[in-house]
This record gives sequence, C-alpha cells and structure tokens, in this order.
Amino acid sequence: MQLAFSRFGYLICIVSILSASIFLIEFGHSELEVLFFAAIGSIIFTIVGEFFIPLFKDWRPNFKENFFPDASLFVVNYVLFQSQLLQIFLASIAIKFSGGGFDLWPSELNIYFQLVVALIISEFGLYWFHRACHEIPFLWRFHKIHHNPQRLYWFNATRFHYLDVTLLQVCGIVPLLLLGAEAKIIALVTIFSTVHGFWQHINAEQDQRILNYFFSGPELHRWHHNLKPEIANHNYGNNLIIWDHVFKTFYWPKDNNEQLKNIGVEGNFSNNIKSMIFDPFKG
Ligand SMILES: [Zn+2]
Repeated sequence: MQLAFSRFGYLICIVSILSASIFLIEFGHSELEVLFFAAIGSIIFTIVGEFFIPLFKDWRPNFKENFFPDASLFVVNYVLFQSQLLQIFLASIAIKFSGGGFDLWPSELNIYFQLVVALIISEFGLYWFHRACHEIPFLWRFHKIHHNPQRLYWFNATRFHYLDVTLLQVCGIVPLLLLGAEAKIIALVTIFSTVHGFWQHINAEQDQRILNYFFSGPELHRWHHNLKPEIANHNYGNNLIIWDHVFKTFYWPKDNNEQLKNIGVEGNFSNNIKSMIFDPFKG
C-alpha cells in the first residue's frame, strides 16, 4: 500500500481529480466550485500520505513556527487577495467578447490535449518568472518567504507573498488568454496547479521515477528548497519540468541525499505576518 502510494499516488490523485473536474465543468458546474472541491480532494490525499508514510517525522509542522504563519499568509493570499481568480475569469470572458485574443487557441481539439498544450505554454511564463525571482534581488525579497521554512509539508504550497503569487499567476495565465483559451481551460490549468502544488511540497515518501522527467514533483522540488543557492537555483518548474531541461536547470542527484534535509534560506527571518508582508517592500 505504501509502495503504491509513493509510486502511483501522484498519478492517481491528479488523473482522478482532473477527470472529475472535466466531468463537472462539462455538466455545468461553475469553475470556482469545481476548483474548491479539487483543492479539498488533493488536500485529503496529501494529508493521508504525510500521516502514513512521512519522509521525515521532524518535518511535521509545529503550530507556532509553521502552521500559524502559513495559515496567516493563506488568509491574506486566498481570502483577501484571491479575487485574482475572479479577475482571471473576468479577463477570459472579456477576451471572449473581444474576439478571443488572437483567436489562435485550438478549441476544437480534445479537452485533454488542450490541457497539455495549455500547461506547456503556461509553464514557460511560470518558469521565467520563478527563475527571475531567484536571480533578481528585488523579486527574491518577496519570493524568499516561500523558501524560508526549514521543513517541507503540503501547506508550504500556499505560503507566498501575495505580490509574488499574483505576478506568478499573471505570467502563467496571460499567454493563454492572449491565445484565446476558454475559461474552462484556464480553470483546468488552475486546478492542475493547485493539486500539483500540494503534492510538490508533500512530506511523504515518493518514488516517481520517470515522472520526474516530466513533472516538477516533490523529489525534484525538495532540491529547489535547498539552503545552498548553487543547489536551489535549479528545478524552477511549477507544474512541469520540461523548460528546466531546455534551459539546463534540471537537477536530480540520486546520490547526494545527505543534503536533502538542508532546507531554507540563509540569514535572520521573521515569521511575523506583518513583517512577512511589508518588509520586502523596504529592502
Ligand atoms: Zn523558488
């Protein structure tokens, strides 16, 4: 059972949630409603995995150090500012009325094929914004909030400065809107990203083998959270890892595991919610 979860859990989770989402959207449920249920479904999957086969028991979060600051940022990002999602849908509707961007989207094709195309295109924007966050000091001030924790678990997926996560989403979605992708494709990419994000940070044993050459899963992403910049400045992929292959930033050492627990960023850092939101603006 544990072997099955570590090897096939990701595929089972993502394929079942995406198929259910496509079914529900095709039958008239709203994109936001489906996104909500997809997020709940993937959270249950990841929590079960972390409970039964934790990778490191001492990465289980403690309330004051991890869960409270993470939950605070979650509220800021997703409750106060997550009108972003609404903006995306409004933008997609606006573009539809104005002729569908450049009207280049292959909407006549099978929906799964459209999703694959959308993920590859969207990932190009995500890859370059994420890489810029590590290479441009001004952007790193905001992005390091995501890298600060010294342990990884599912909820790290929501720990972002609101400016960081907003710009990231814009870079991923705007290319799709310009090409004229429909709202349901935007919704499915967002669902994929949400489900994948929880998995990417999971503190459960994973053995995804060949999938690591296509998806930016936890085995690769743990290296991206390494304390040493020369290790961390790899694997920028958010959902897919393909652009890391193209731009030579793919990193998957199979024999360097003593470094794996070396997570976080150097220097002092406050977990106070006010500091996390306002300090990056001050420098
Ligand atoms: Zn990063």
